[in-house]
Amino acid sequence: MEEKTEEKTEEKKEEQKSKPGRFGPFGGQYIPETLMSALHALEEAYTHYKNDPEFQAELEELLTHYANRPSLLSYAGNLTREIGGAKIYLKREDLNHTGSHKINNVLGQTLLAKRMGKTRIIAETGAGQHGVAAATAAALLGMACEVFMGKEDTERQALNVYRMHLLGATVHTVTSGTMTLKDAVNETMREWSRQVSDTHYVLGSVMGPHPFPTMVRDFQSVISREIKTQMYKAEGGLPDAVVACVGGGSNAIGAFYEFIGDPSVRLIGCEAAGQGINTPRHAATIARGAAGVFHGMKSLFCQDEFGQIAPVYSISAGLDYPGIGPEHAFLHQSGRAQYVPITDQEAVGAFERLARTEGIIPAIESAHALAHAVTVAEELGPGKCLVVCLSGRGDKDVAAIARYKGENIYEGGGKHS
Ligand SMILES: *Cc1c(COP(=O)(O)O)cnc(C)c1O
Repeated sequence: MEEKTEEKTEEKKEEQKSKPGRFGPFGGQYIPETLMSALHALEEAYTHYKNDPEFQAELEELLTHYANRPSLLSYAGNLTREIGGAKIYLKREDLNHTGSHKINNVLGQTLLAKRMGKTRIIAETGAGQHGVAAATAAALLGMACEVFMGKEDTERQALNVYRMHLLGATVHTVTSGTMTLKDAVNETMREWSRQVSDTHYVLGSVMGPHPFPTMVRDFQSVISREIKTQMYKAEGGLPDAVVACVGGGSNAIGAFYEFIGDPSVRLIGCEAAGQGINTPRHAATIARGAAGVFHGMKSLFCQDEFGQIAPVYSISAGLDYPGIGPEHAFLHQSGRAQYVPITDQEAVGAFERLARTEGIIPAIESAHALAHAVTVAEELGPGKCLVVCLSGRGDKDVAAIARYKGENIYEGGGKHS
């Protein structure tokens, strides 16, 4: 009996490996019937244009002359000297147009939607970074754009709502559930199934049903292709580690992808531990989550004792998601990548440290990666080098950091002497 079960599991494993959109046991396409044909059409179009030199050339042109790629790889000399360990390099996705890595994926998907004959894109957004990027690409490429955003987030990120309006997008306030990112994803899925004929859903991370996790990863993998070239130029070889923050996981997989086959490169993802993984106030999917199915994919999710998706928390709206992309769940399971939880307090410390030492204000999301990079630099020691993916710039977070510290930016700039 037992042998038979084992055999079956092995068979199953083999089958899963060869299935498109599967990462070990994770991934897949768990969706309502109404979206089946839309996802098939998307997969077909993506498979075609992925290998179409004309499409690739047009995307390359947009990335270069609009988004400002390749992004710099900056040596953080002051921070490195302060720590006294491995050399720390920063991959500067904060210097991209619209201020984060989100634009890489959005330009790819919007261009694809246009080739598919769509005239409208819709998107979910949490902090508003993905919504702003989508509205930007829609303005540039002449598409209509509607963004779904939880009511909580429209209030916390009012500036980004106004930016989206300026860019010509319509913003829908989502009032279901906890009125945050996960509810915005639900609402955007629902809207897509209502009107697939002229509409493409630009999903913002390496999550959701196949082909999104693969497609978004491919569009973001430009980050690691550039890092590889830039590190060879700067150090004559591979980095010893690559560190990135993980919400859904798109900047991290983008920074990891080219190095997955290089076993000497440690890949480290940093998830949001909020007020601590021993409190209920965190978003640490790998440390505290369990396998489940949600938002069209099988992956790891923060759940309550009944298997319902648990409310999550992080100071960083971009990491405040109860799940993780299926490829990360697999990289964790296989041991190829490591994932560590980083608290609000550690992230705020790293945020302030980078501003003071290097003159760069990072996104609070990216500060989670920076916080751990310092530990890794100490572990690796002198003579080694690591790359931190600086996924975005921190202007959007300044008010929240001031609030966290009990200061007020509108009363004479907070602390001064
Ligand atoms: C959205 C966002 C993230 C989190 O998303 P991933 O898909 O995990 O990359 C991280 N950093 C910044 C700056 C973001 O805007």
